[in-house]
Amino acid sequence: MPVIALSEAELASHPAFEGHEEVVRIEDEAAGLAGYIAIHDTTLGPSLGGCRVWRYADEGAALEDVLRLSRGMTYKNALAGLNLGGGKAVIILAPGAPKTPALFEAFGAAIEELAGRYITAEDVGTSPADMADVARATKHVRGTPASGVADPSPYTALGVFHGILAAVEYRFGSSSLEGIRVAVQGLGHVGWRVAEKLHEAGADLLVSDIDAKTLARAEEAWGALAVPVTEIHAAPVDLFAPCALGAGLNRTTIPQIRAAIVAGAANNQLAEADDATRLRERGILYAPDYAINAGGVVALALAGAGRSQTEMRDKVEAIGSTLASIFARAAEERTTTAAIADQLAEERLTAVKRRSQAA
Ligand code: NAD
Repeated sequence: MPVIALSEAELASHPAFEGHEEVVRIEDEAAGLAGYIAIHDTTLGPSLGGCRVWRYADEGAALEDVLRLSRGMTYKNALAGLNLGGGKAVIILAPGAPKTPALFEAFGAAIEELAGRYITAEDVGTSPADMADVARATKHVRGTPASGVADPSPYTALGVFHGILAAVEYRFGSSSLEGIRVAVQGLGHVGWRVAEKLHEAGADLLVSDIDAKTLARAEEAWGALAVPVTEIHAAPVDLFAPCALGAGLNRTTIPQIRAAIVAGAANNQLAEADDATRLRERGILYAPDYAINAGGVVALALAGAGRSQTEMRDKVEAIGSTLASIFARAAEERTTTAAIADQLAEERLTAVKRRSQAA
């Protein structure tokens, strides 16, 4: 029996536990599996969120991570208009232990015991091949090579591009990117594709990456100007697109930003909640991270429901209009765009809860 429900008492010491519906510990010693699945909220449907494989320092760190991430998925899925709740899984990899097909098959067996309340997908540390191993034990998995969307990055990039168009239109009165200067931080799976689309639309690119070869390719392909990683956020541009790691927007970097807009793919861009206020006080238009980077999860969800490529693209492109409403409402209510994104997600959850209570 690899799935063990955690008691309220066990979870009480974790502030991130608040509001979760169900948290289970998953273990299968023979397969080397240890970790957690957290289901935050299933008001809108079964919970969907990726599986992170990480060498966590201890059990507490893994539990904290899964609780925080599963709550984030509730907001991301709700705001993206998906009929899916928020959940997440973490697998704790012991020092030196390998990722094996047996590990992921055991993880699939644990998911199967939750009877569809949690659907997994890729995240940091997992690949489409790992999801194929999970799929041998459960159908509650997305992002396998056979699913049609093995790599969600192109959809994430498409959504970020449409979010950027919406932000540019809101701030500059036209969505034309001709001559707009953009600093792209991180040219990985998503950042490279975002930069490519920006270049094709006529933007001038400044780029940074820790990988010198990637930078050289960007200079060659788009005539982009390479900027040191410590300076890209402060580049003299119209828009800064963080597409690398999280927490890049903080009390040190925000005062140095010269862009009028921050809009990029990275998760958890704000180091702390007050950073949204710091950006607003400097007059910088911020596209909330989980609103603009939802294209990948939208594609995974729709592919899983058997929907067409056209439907997927339409829903991903709609990220632009979601952001346009967030910008307008934040201005109207004189608050941050991050606060409005949370409010919109919560309003959708509350409306559905009310309807189901009334029924
Ligand atoms: P990736 O690992 O493919 O790319 C990250 C890139 O950033 C790499 O090229 C890396 O060399 C570079 N990098 C690392 N540190 C850097 C630094 N300090 N300065 C500049 N560049 C640096 O990851 P990805 O899949 O492209 O994801 C990028 C971000 O978008 C992550 O924060 C991820 O969580 C988020 N995100 C990705 C998806 C997706 O579909 N892949 C979906 C939602 C959110």
